[in-house]
Amino acid sequence: MSFAIILGIFMCTTSAWGQWRTNQKTHQLSLLPESSTLRLCRDFTNQTRFKEILAPIMVPRIVDTPQHRQVGDYLQSFLHNLGFATEWDAFTDTTPFGTRNFRNLIATFDEAAPRRLVLACHYDSKIIPGQVMIAATDSAVPCAMMLDIAQTLAPYMYKRVAQQVGLQLIFFDGEEAFRDWTATDSLYGSRHLAQKWEQKWFPSSSSLNNFELSKEIDRIDVLMLLDLLGAANPSIGNTIGMGATELFSQLADVELNLRATGCLNAIRRNVFNKQLSYNQVEDDHIPFLKRGKINVINFYVNISSGVPILHLITVPFPSVWHRSSDNANALHYPTIDHMTAVIRVFVAKYLGIAPA
Ligand SMILES: [Zn+2]
Repeated sequence: MSFAIILGIFMCTTSAWGQWRTNQKTHQLSLLPESSTLRLCRDFTNQTRFKEILAPIMVPRIVDTPQHRQVGDYLQSFLHNLGFATEWDAFTDTTPFGTRNFRNLIATFDEAAPRRLVLACHYDSKIIPGQVMIAATDSAVPCAMMLDIAQTLAPYMYKRVAQQVGLQLIFFDGEEAFRDWTATDSLYGSRHLAQKWEQKWFPSSSSLNNFELSKEIDRIDVLMLLDLLGAANPSIGNTIGMGATELFSQLADVELNLRATGCLNAIRRNVFNKQLSYNQVEDDHIPFLKRGKINVINFYVNISSGVPILHLITVPFPSVWHRSSDNANALHYPTIDHMTAVIRVFVAKYLGIAPA
């Protein structure tokens, strides 16, 4: 992503409602029994398992190279084995180094569900000429966090409360600029997928005689984008203009509540800050947030709104950002465990998953 510009910080917080609204949809987060919360937060945290999940991703992942394809295949087979339906969004695009093949991976649990809760990261790594770039925080760890959450929650998906919402994981390709960040040299995968889903119609029917068309992109309740995570002392702000400030404060409440139950105590400082901030970080959410605003179809004007976004990125960026030192030594496992637990519990509350 490109540099962050912090324009100002509001010293105000929004009240945390149990319900949030996006476009015409309302959604109630589930209250979980304390036993389920502890199970999700404490029992489902396993550092050994996490390191095993992460290891195959900790290699250079330069777009359209054999190692990069291998990592993509690993992500695909991991999720396929958990019962996710997987598909590739493959395409070619022109880069400063010539034409390259890209492929986004989309993995969906319960494709038939009309709505989606989306977790997303990018799986390519930046080219740093003459150096080996593992890009551990950017974004090997965020991708591993998504796999870890998917693995622990998949067995409970069939009895979730929110049957109308499926869980979707998106692994974007080509987030990084090949040379310098520009509108055309960056975000290759997310630009391609957002445009494709803007043009794809999805037939939905709440009942057989109440049939309506909606766009594939409108199936997304919220896109949670994980980026630059895994180093110590992260701070994630509640960015104005993302259409999900209220939902972000509920995510921050999850962290506070988990501390109160005593299951989170490895790091002292809270990661998620409810304080609203103006925070311009260009990243894979942008093509979804700034989708085509007005579409005219058969004289029917559809004013579409951006996809609500939870941008889970640490600002300031980790000190190792875009350096070859963004490797295994940059990682702080108490922080990774803490953040994975908060996101896991939030996803479980969104979907209504309460493991016994
Ligand atoms: Zn990067």
